[in-house]
Amino acid sequence: MQELVHFIGGKRVAGASGRYCDGYEPMSGATISRVPLASQAEVAAAVESAERAQPVWAAVSPQRRVRVLMKFLDLLQGESEVLANLLAREHGKTVGDARGDIQRGLEVVEFAIGAPHFLKGGFSDSSGPGIDVYAMRQPLGVMAGVTPFNFPAMIPMWMFAPAIACGDAFVLKPSERDASVPLRLAELMVEAGLPAGVLNVVNGDKEAVDALLDHAAVKALSFVGSTAVAEYVYARGAANGKRMQCFGGAKNHMIIMPDADLDQVVEALIGAAYGAAGERCMAISVAVPVGEVVARALVHRLVPRVKTLKIGASTDPEAEFGPLVTRAHLEKVTAYVDLGVSEGAELLVDGRGFHLPGFESGFYMGGCLFDGVTRRMRIYREEIFGPVLLVIRAADYSEALALVDDHEYGNGVAIFTRDGGVARDFVSRVQVGMVGVNVPIPTPVASYSFGGWKRSFFGDLGQHGPDAMRFCTKTKIVTSRWPREGGEGASFVIPTTR
Ligand code: NAD
Repeated sequence: MQELVHFIGGKRVAGASGRYCDGYEPMSGATISRVPLASQAEVAAAVESAERAQPVWAAVSPQRRVRVLMKFLDLLQGESEVLANLLAREHGKTVGDARGDIQRGLEVVEFAIGAPHFLKGGFSDSSGPGIDVYAMRQPLGVMAGVTPFNFPAMIPMWMFAPAIACGDAFVLKPSERDASVPLRLAELMVEAGLPAGVLNVVNGDKEAVDALLDHAAVKALSFVGSTAVAEYVYARGAANGKRMQCFGGAKNHMIIMPDADLDQVVEALIGAAYGAAGERCMAISVAVPVGEVVARALVHRLVPRVKTLKIGASTDPEAEFGPLVTRAHLEKVTAYVDLGVSEGAELLVDGRGFHLPGFESGFYMGGCLFDGVTRRMRIYREEIFGPVLLVIRAADYSEALALVDDHEYGNGVAIFTRDGGVARDFVSRVQVGMVGVNVPIPTPVASYSFGGWKRSFFGDLGQHGPDAMRFCTKTKIVTSRWPREGGEGASFVIPTTR
């Protein structure tokens, strides 16, 4: 069995806390690794290594800094097949989907290569007599990131690439459930020329996260995970004076208007609901057909499609999705399906107890489809994070919109329609951060910022795009004058431009 490590000061460092958790291969159910859980002292060592490296890194010109990211892109592309297989093995998603996980991370690295443009600041000549004013963007110092299990390549890259491009040093605490890829990413950054200590990885659980939240040298922390933890992390970090951005859970609706192209809807819905076994924060978990005619037609088409979903091992190129991440998560999702039945929803397709021949101990679950869901049911109000799609019917467009707006989560939403007027109204009024029009998973491209609303997000600046550059820097405004001989006398009133 493999024993994972930390990555501190440019070197692999064995865990010293004596605490470990098991790492699994979801497709077979085997225990394949021991993951060290860092103590407060180990986290402090990583932060101090970052603290030492950061001033030297910040003094490197922005253009030279991003050359390291360019080299990293090359190295990562060269190794991407190996990493996609490793990622799929630890996470359970298919290798094809794991390639996408890496690619979406790479796209933010490409975006971060443009950091010198964002770091330019501004200059105003002669804002007063002989006075020039200029703005500088400076790095924060040491930043930290805490990431979830479901995108072990993409989300770490979303966090560390902009920070490093901006001249910050970074301590990453990846999910303990699939930590091998984040560790390798950090090593590749050093192979690409990043000075030791600028990027560190500590593996761990709540103890490590708390240590980051309480360490005075950590100036900002980015978190992605479930809402309860996001809210806790946000409150504790903010109370300690840190800049925080915490992304939480989701319940993403797809509204299907009566004029939508149903063939397109069914395919979009199937992929968005069941891809990665529903373990995506942008997965569609609620379908909202508007009107009885479209509801009946939609359900009629969905049932055979969900019954014949191809579930397979992560390495099976034919598989549409693979196993869930752990047995504990499989049990949690199964319990939600039990709950839906007891709450009175109609289980049209039951994926509980699915077994894949040859992989009997894997963490598999078949696709589940519920109809007759109501807004009061817990299966509707809470995030399930598995291959479970709910159908909740709306009588008209206003009812569908109200459903989305009343939900406590506001990460992503989609509307399928041919009517430009309805789509425009929806886009403008809906209380959700990322909106798709005939696009089921509207995850923004790297040059725009990513972030939900309501209880899907605590903070104000999103991931990547222009927000990332603001999150990773602080602005300094300089007002400057070079006095001539025999300057003016003292002034006791506030300077103005009059
Ligand atoms: P999680 O909340 O269990 O864990 C996330 C991270 O927090 C991990 O690194 C974990 O070690 C740490 N952690 C767990 N419990 C903690 C505690 N009590 N105190 C401090 N740290 C703790 O989430 P997960 O199961 O890894 O990921 C799935 C969740 O992430 C889902 O809710 C999903 O919607 C969400 N997610 C959100 C986004 C987004 O952008 N909004 C993106 C991806 C995933």
